[in-house]
Amino acid sequence: MKLEDIMSRLAEVARSVPIHYRDGILGSMTTPPHPLAKAAFDMFQGLNVNDEELYRPLRELEEEAIKELGSYLGGSRCTGYITSGGSESNLAALYLAREHGFNNVYYTAAAHHSITKAAYLLRMRPVEVKMKEYRMDPASLRSLCKANGPGVVVVTVGTTSVGTIDPVEEVSDVAAECDSIVHVDAALGGLVAPFVYPNRKLGFQNGPVMSATLDPHKLGLAPLPAGGLIVRDEHWFKPLDFKAEYYPAGHQVGLFGTRSGGPVAATWAIVKYMGRDGYAAQAHELMERTRYLLNEVKGLGLETPVDPEVPVVCIEHAGDDYLMRSLAKEGVYVYKCGLVPGIRVVVMPHVTKALLDKFVSLLREVLSQQR
Ligand SMILES: *Cc1c(COP(=O)(O)O)cnc(C)c1O
Repeated sequence: MKLEDIMSRLAEVARSVPIHYRDGILGSMTTPPHPLAKAAFDMFQGLNVNDEELYRPLRELEEEAIKELGSYLGGSRCTGYITSGGSESNLAALYLAREHGFNNVYYTAAAHHSITKAAYLLRMRPVEVKMKEYRMDPASLRSLCKANGPGVVVVTVGTTSVGTIDPVEEVSDVAAECDSIVHVDAALGGLVAPFVYPNRKLGFQNGPVMSATLDPHKLGLAPLPAGGLIVRDEHWFKPLDFKAEYYPAGHQVGLFGTRSGGPVAATWAIVKYMGRDGYAAQAHELMERTRYLLNEVKGLGLETPVDPEVPVVCIEHAGDDYLMRSLAKEGVYVYKCGLVPGIRVVVMPHVTKALLDKFVSLLREVLSQQR
């Protein structure tokens, strides 16, 4: 193909799909990456972090970034690796739990689907725990783990469908009673909750918490794909260090093979640049916009299943499919909540008040046409 034909086809595809800087992407947990993160990504994207002999300094950047992210969740000696996203982090976390002898996976219906997917792939036993107001019910966990035995309890800090936070402390206490461990899925909420609720112990402050998921490619402002698996210490991480004879170092880290240095360098750069204060400021701003949206939505006579604790707003509506498709025709793209009938807005950094206003007025229009 000629270069100009290739470029014009690419331009045509870019015109035909929604793009953050041009359209109203309101339902996705993606956002445009920070320019610094993109620059760092470009510098190292062609290098393989898994060759530790040649690229040990990249692995050091990775460990520094993981330590910083882990510190937000109360960890001090954390290690881990930059994954392709929350799904891989959750898979790797459950794999670690299994290798350390835990076969049951306690989870709720509000857990991300990658949890049951991982349990299925790893042939672990999923045990569904009841919820109270869309949060894990510690009493239900207690009776289930007494009946079924120890396992890994998956709590979510910022549920994908309704934006709630499981009671990590109470669940950890019950897990300790049952000789179980806890994995914290804070893929989205990990860069909000620690700053907005500084008095809650949402992570490694609780003894049974052995691992956490926190995605730099969501609120971290890193380019896709960049997920984070954070584990308590070197000992817990060991099963993810695999023998690989042909590598000069003789081993390799993580579930998969070649790992690009792009996401690693990008995550390190943006985490060091934003730091605790930068992410805290972003978190407060996003929660402020979230409350604004909640108010507007209630003004339309609509309801949310709960008041969200992270910037995820589920707007209840039986005709969610119709609403989603009607809004999309006008260039505003929401998702469905999933857990309950309704449409979901994630207030990501690019979701400004102006965009929220546009959404609310379109929603009002679509609803009036439907009635
Ligand atoms: C987004 C998300 C995931 C999955 O992350 P991917 O990067 O899409 O694989 C897992 N858990 C939670 C709570 C999430 O919000």
